[in-house]
Amino acid sequence: MKPFIATGLIRNNILDLKPYASARSEFDAAAAVMLDANENPLGGAFSRYPDPLQKDLKQQLSRARGVDPGSIFIGNGSDEAIDLLIRICCRPGTADSILVCPPTYGMYEVCAATNDVPVVRVPLDAAFGLDVAAIRRALTPDIKLVFICSPNNPTGNLMGAEDLEAILDVAPGLVVIDEAYIDFAAAASWSLRLDAYPNLVVLHTCSKAWGLAGLRVGMAFAHPGLIAILNKVKPPYNVAAASQQLALTALRDGERYEANRRELLRQRERLEAALLAVPAIRQVFRSDANFLLVKVADASALYGYLLQAGIVVRNRHTTPGCENCLRISVGTEVENDQLISALRAFQS
Ligand SMILES: *Cc1c(COP(=O)(O)O)cnc(C)c1O
Repeated sequence: MKPFIATGLIRNNILDLKPYASARSEFDAAAAVMLDANENPLGGAFSRYPDPLQKDLKQQLSRARGVDPGSIFIGNGSDEAIDLLIRICCRPGTADSILVCPPTYGMYEVCAATNDVPVVRVPLDAAFGLDVAAIRRALTPDIKLVFICSPNNPTGNLMGAEDLEAILDVAPGLVVIDEAYIDFAAAASWSLRLDAYPNLVVLHTCSKAWGLAGLRVGMAFAHPGLIAILNKVKPPYNVAAASQQLALTALRDGERYEANRRELLRQRERLEAALLAVPAIRQVFRSDANFLLVKVADASALYGYLLQAGIVVRNRHTTPGCENCLRISVGTEVENDQLISALRAFQS
């Protein structure tokens, strides 16, 4: 494994940081009498603090995803990882910045703005692919992180492997590939290539293919040197015990996960075919995710119409590059059928 070079990338105050030593991190075994954490023993099933490093969950994830436990960070949703990555690399109010490729997931910019970190935007090309030449031109030593979402939200497409390699090869800082939707794509995860790229971070989540958005469990896969820094900065008990337990149970049921994944892919195909036959829909973009981006004549009118029919989709009309587009999550067969009949009845 290549070394992880923290100097010049990770903020000095973070490198120097002595992490908070929680009761559970100083003594993480079980004893007959636990009087070290000011817990209330009368509380019941959740009276104890959770495992700060989520060891059981990481073991199971390691089995499911083929990534070493030492290369796994678990966050309160992958949104927590996005925020922490920006915070450990970028000094607020300086030239330290991130690069994003819009239209893409909004949290990268929100986390940057929250941390007073400038954003460099290199828009996707007309086919929603990466403009590699423009990205390479825009890269400066001040750009500490490049965020690339693949499959991308809200456009649905997977980014080209060669394009990503061309960015990984020259980026001065971390390249974060957000694979929240990778389970719906016919492509291998970049998490299997961590050994080749010490500057690569891959984000996954339990919120999409695992169907556990309410638990708030997401992960970052990266070099163990970077994982150690994320663990140092995160709140000690960032993933609730209930979430750890329920996620573990779900991760052990690989059959259910696979059956659900296949069913959603089947529904995506059905929905795509049905949408193509609806006169109000002008274009259905190719999707490698569990949603479809569609172009219509008047997105806001159609959005309002669907809302009146009790169906809520995402109006992306105000997003540059997604004019008159709606993003539609793939639902159950019954939900998809309801959507289709409502769309067929729409008079534009
Ligand atoms: C849904 C989604 C996530 C998941 O975030 P969680 O905080 O894990 O729920 C991350 N990235 C993208 C692009 C998403 O669409």
